[in-house]
Amino acid sequence: MDTYDVAVIGAGPAGVMAAWTAAKQGAHTVLLERETAAGRKPCAEGILSEVLDDAEMPPQNEFATNRITGAFLYAPDEKRRVRVGGEGYILDKPAFLRSLAERAGASGAELVFGARVDSVSRQDGAVLIEGRRDSQPYSLKTRAVIGCDGTGSILARQFFPRRNYPVIAAFQYDMTDCQLEDESKLEIFIGHKKAPAGYIWIFPKGKGTANVGIGLKGSGAKSLLDKFIQDHPNVFNHSKIERSQAAPVPVGGEVEDYVTDNMMLCGDAAGQVIPLTGAGIHTSIVAGKIAGEVAGAAAKEGEVGSKRLSAYRERFEALWGEKISNSLKALESFERFSDDELNIITDFLDGQDLVDMAHGFRPSKAVGLMVRHPILAMKVAHQLIS
Ligand SMILES: Cc1cc2nc3c(=O)[nH]c(=O)nc-3n(C[C@H](O)[C@H](O)[C@H](O)COP(=O)(O)OP(=O)(O)OC[C@H]3O[C@@H](n4cnc5c(N)ncnc54)[C@H](O)[C@@H]3O)c2cc1C
Repeated sequence: MDTYDVAVIGAGPAGVMAAWTAAKQGAHTVLLERETAAGRKPCAEGILSEVLDDAEMPPQNEFATNRITGAFLYAPDEKRRVRVGGEGYILDKPAFLRSLAERAGASGAELVFGARVDSVSRQDGAVLIEGRRDSQPYSLKTRAVIGCDGTGSILARQFFPRRNYPVIAAFQYDMTDCQLEDESKLEIFIGHKKAPAGYIWIFPKGKGTANVGIGLKGSGAKSLLDKFIQDHPNVFNHSKIERSQAAPVPVGGEVEDYVTDNMMLCGDAAGQVIPLTGAGIHTSIVAGKIAGEVAGAAAKEGEVGSKRLSAYRERFEALWGEKISNSLKALESFERFSDDELNIITDFLDGQDLVDMAHGFRPSKAVGLMVRHPILAMKVAHQLIS
């Protein structure tokens, strides 16, 4: 039976990074992906430029499909929109993941596509992985395992009791022939009537193509998105739907534990998503990068226990822990405001406030709001201290 230092399950953003950094440490590393290629999961593919910095992957035409220079956030009544700054890209995510996977392969990781993991168990201090590859059973042993296998993670189901792991539904169309005002801007529409406790997005990919989707609490994603498209004939009158896809997004913040003995979880599997926006590419890239580096070094030195591997948790928490928990608070607050209140709040905030809001409300803003809308300000203040 093949034996590895580090096995990574899943070739999403977390997995391709973890395989790369583990292999760079000189660890004998395998990456197991059930699909025959990376990037089959639906995604709006929006990232800030910092994501590529953290991935240590300069932008390339092959995957950086469209340059983005900010976003318009529309109030529920759409009478006002706020311009939000920020530079980034809409990716061709399968091509991006392919580049990251190839780099991991060039650093020595063994990439195995079409290899589903069906079971993970402990055996003599090591980990036994069993599954099917091209409908044939396979098994391998590893010193350490990193679960980068998304919301339905097999490693989480077997070894990490994710008690608080709420997910929301996200549904998306790939569209062509959209009449967009400015293809360098994301468009985001909030309002509980349009998308209860969520939002609708139009992420332009250039030349009239766009990822058009909805994330919301509860059911009815498709019919609400169809209604939105119908209500915006200026954008969608001539457009075509090329593909529709749906997937869950974890929005409850990080799971209680994501390192135990010689096992780690990264990315969506660990709830490492910004709850208010549902963005998880950046956090997954960073988590995978750190986890692979820590596991690779530990496995090389034969010390793959929790004590050594918890350095991953410490390093990730220092970078993202507070942002994720503040954003969860902001999401909980956002859910409690009515559409009328959101119209007023949107009117009051500027673009930078909205960026800050994604990482938690700023108390100073509650003071300004107090002058113009005292009752609403008290509600905001209550959310801040509760
Ligand atoms: C519709 C939608 C739009 C989104 N838009 C954005 C966006 O614009 N920007 C952003 O930052 N984030 C976005 N996200 C979130 C982002 O896609 C995820 O947070 C991110 O992809 C998580 O990366 P990951 O590596 O943890 O997991 P995933 O990307 O989910 O990858 C997991 C991988 O594991 C594989 N796998 C699962 N189980 C097994 C198994 N048993 N054996 C082998 N392989 C397995 C899967 O096939 C998959 O390739 C969006 C999510 C959705 C659903």
